[in-house]
Amino acid sequence: MSSGQPLVRVEELQKYFWEQDSILDRLLGAEPVPVRAVDGVSFDIYRGETLGLVGESGCGKSTAGETLLRLQEPTDGHVEFDEHDVYELAGSELTEFRRDAQVVFQDPFSSLDPRMTIGEIVRQPLDVHNVDTVEKRRERVRELLERVGLSADQLDRYPHEFSGGQRQRIGIARALALEPEFLVLDEPTSALDVSVQAQVLNLLDELQAEFDLTYLLISHDLSVIRHICDRVAVMYLGEIVEIGPVEAIFEEPKHPYTEALLESVPRATTDERERDRETISGDVPSPRDPPSGCRFRTRCPKVIPPDDVEIDQEEYRAIMDLRERIERRDISLESVGEDGGFEFVDGAVSETDLPAFVTALKTRVIDRTLAPEHDEVVEEALAELASSNWERAADVLSSRYESVCERRRPELGEESHPAACHLHDDAEESIRR
Ligand code: SF4
Repeated sequence: MSSGQPLVRVEELQKYFWEQDSILDRLLGAEPVPVRAVDGVSFDIYRGETLGLVGESGCGKSTAGETLLRLQEPTDGHVEFDEHDVYELAGSELTEFRRDAQVVFQDPFSSLDPRMTIGEIVRQPLDVHNVDTVEKRRERVRELLERVGLSADQLDRYPHEFSGGQRQRIGIARALALEPEFLVLDEPTSALDVSVQAQVLNLLDELQAEFDLTYLLISHDLSVIRHICDRVAVMYLGEIVEIGPVEAIFEEPKHPYTEALLESVPRATTDERERDRETISGDVPSPRDPPSGCRFRTRCPKVIPPDDVEIDQEEYRAIMDLRERIERRDISLESVGEDGGFEFVDGAVSETDLPAFVTALKTRVIDRTLAPEHDEVVEEALAELASSNWERAADVLSSRYESVCERRRPELGEESHPAACHLHDDAEESIRR
């Protein structure tokens, strides 16, 4: 599939949003902080292939799809379609691009105008682009409806008279009206019943072969991706963290985020269901303030400890989680004080209460027994919290446990199945870190 010149080339595409700054921010004259929805993604889509874009909701995949179609203006970066710079197109070239690149939206309920008949809906792009005569347009609409599995006799009905699956077929017919080369399929089956999903995916598969279509399939659902894609790009917090052939991604995922996504898919067999599953813990950080270095480091079960620290991986993860909570001041010292009867005077517990306070706090924030040398450092940090000294507590932990994953942003390599993770840095790079 992935041969010849790409039909679509996306280079360092960025899309930031500024409009969500609060009125208070504006009144205070605070510098606007953008939501970095898409933050420098690059990928190619070859003619005739289906590239999947997968990730949790809010990772920027739909924004990437809309921006590359120029439904939204980019903040930075380039997109080429058939060797033309999409953001430089104007006049007839832009009109041609609008015909060649179409989109099928997630929600077949809201994406169809309820006041229009389905004949009018499917014909609308032909009317807008003034294609052929009215009679020929009507004929084309009849063909399209039949081709997507509906009856041409239903032309004069309204969207509410159809089921979800049928409405999505109408959306697909509309997207095909202008004989495009490229479709962005934005969660095309996620609003449908499971039994209907496979029918719609099979239809998309057949149409691709019949009309030589190229697809970008956006989905959070890995089973949908596996069903239909040739290659997959995995997105996390506005960045692509791994890209490769679908079998390689599913059989040999390289990035810990991809591994965790795959682990979170429900298993079919009892054996697999009973296997220990490592799901992704923690919340996705804000795209307004993404973590330094690797953006997955705040949740990564494989986050890399410093070379000179001997530590069990789970212990390291627990200490990193504690440090992040301290940095966010996300621990209620007052409730530890109240529960244990410790009194804070001028923000600090008394010297006498300090050991008991540290023990009570540790029980709250660390759910495992640490090796003695790490226990000692953690206690030192927690003792700083007994004087409400959040910064010093964070410093105690960061000076001992700083990871390469927070210092350096991992790059996506050039090979056929790269992953942006320091675990896959080559030897020479690792030595320099
Ligand atoms: S770079 Fe570090 S934090 Fe990021 S995925 Fe790799 S091991 Fe995890």
